[in-house]
Amino acid sequence: MIFIAKEIQTAAYLFASILFILSLSGLSSQESAKRGVLYGIVGMIIAIFATVLGQGVEGHVYIISAIAVASVIGILLARKVEMTAMPQLVAILHSFVGLAAVLVGVGSYLDPSTQALSGAEHKIHLIEVFAGIFIGAITFTGSIVAWGKLDGKIPSKPWSFAGLQMMNLILLLACVVMGFFFCKAEGTEGMLYLGIMTAIASFIGIVLVMAIGGGDMPVVVSMLNSYSGWAAAAAGFMLGNDLLIVTGALVGSSGAILSMHMCEAMNRSFFSVIFASASLGTRTGEKKAMEGEVTALNHEEVAGLLKEAKSVVIVPGYGMAVAKAQYPIHEMVQVLQKAGKKVRFAIHPVAGRLPGHMNVLLAEANVSYDIVLEMDEINEDMPDTDVVMVIGANDVVNPSAQDDPGCSIYGMPVIEAWKAEKVIIMKRSMSAGYSGEDNPLFYKQNSEMLYGDAKVSVEKMLTFLRN
Ligand code: NDP
Repeated sequence: MIFIAKEIQTAAYLFASILFILSLSGLSSQESAKRGVLYGIVGMIIAIFATVLGQGVEGHVYIISAIAVASVIGILLARKVEMTAMPQLVAILHSFVGLAAVLVGVGSYLDPSTQALSGAEHKIHLIEVFAGIFIGAITFTGSIVAWGKLDGKIPSKPWSFAGLQMMNLILLLACVVMGFFFCKAEGTEGMLYLGIMTAIASFIGIVLVMAIGGGDMPVVVSMLNSYSGWAAAAAGFMLGNDLLIVTGALVGSSGAILSMHMCEAMNRSFFSVIFASASLGTRTGEKKAMEGEVTALNHEEVAGLLKEAKSVVIVPGYGMAVAKAQYPIHEMVQVLQKAGKKVRFAIHPVAGRLPGHMNVLLAEANVSYDIVLEMDEINEDMPDTDVVMVIGANDVVNPSAQDDPGCSIYGMPVIEAWKAEKVIIMKRSMSAGYSGEDNPLFYKQNSEMLYGDAKVSVEKMLTFLRN
């Protein structure tokens, strides 16, 4: 087997770190996102080779076999997964990072060479192991619950009770006490305390995510992304691998920044969401009952409205992803633009099930970026808009977020579709959005429902618009 010198490995790690930083910066805009992904892939290949070929690494047959099997599974999964199931896939992948950190921690603790350490060096290693396993266990179980919620296997409604925060605090203190005994234990006797702490941390992970309501899930997804980064960084400390520390810290801090942006977009406090108090804290009083009558139009009538409109705003949501309606929507936009209409998209920061979900889908369908506007950029234009087409969106246009303190998404800024002259809501039924909240927009006088699958509906309207 060929081994590379330590200096070459360090240089390779440095190069890979730079590629990871370029990758993150590339991912910050749609134009450069593909390049960003490519930097990430090249960086990861360099990182894997530099690690596997490093001095002192043994069992190459096992490592290469594991990489080969995992690569095949990864390629098959990525090819098979539907765009709508992407958030679940991301959540479950985060859980693997958490589990890896737990396993690395246990392995590192039992490793005779680390057991032979003494003094401060030994204590620092024990703290690294303990912290790494703690973060890893929370990430592991929290990500599994997030996967269940995103996949619809676990209800998205928050599960909580009055003493939840107190219970979490007691569990946290119990972990600190276990940590104290763990650091005092001789030889491998600390396994008992490590085991108890792992069980408690795993339980905390479940409770933390179970307690968060559907509306706050975007923060949880980005937060678990951040946790998985910190878990990887902790594994890097345990293994003495600088690249893993750098990569983990990059993922951890970028995930934390994204979580803060998500909180800002949803008008939530970061700490109240991570300690699962947002969904409880904002609910004051009874929910408002729905008032008004729901009326519906057919495809020909909506096409007629569009023909008469001068300005049209399209608000896409998760239903657009489910229906894969972005392609006919793009065609419809071109037809309307050719007829001299001003057409724009209004994108809510948490529309869909992934940060940037709508932007990715629209970019995939080649929709020009300059007509894709953020919620804040377009909200003030709503009163001057003739027709707003809400396509498979629900929570992001729910007026209760502004005027119903009894609603779980109260306080979240929303796209003010109801301020337009006419609102067309395209969805299959009257069902609630991901937060589980009913939407009074459907009952407003200037609103009309257009029932059906979003893609089928847009295609039908296109035939009328072309005629
Ligand atoms: P919602 O989930 O609130 O609503 C989507 C609507 O689409 C549903 O009411 C559904 O109604 C409709 N729909 C589903 N399938 C179709 C179809 N084939 N054709 C037409 N309509 C369809 O989505 P929004 O995008 O408005 O809001 C996102 C929600 O998800 C927010 O609560 C957000 O907090 C949460 N979330 C966001 C994440 C993110 O990072 N962006 C991550 C996790 C959660 P019907 O069944 O009647 O058709």
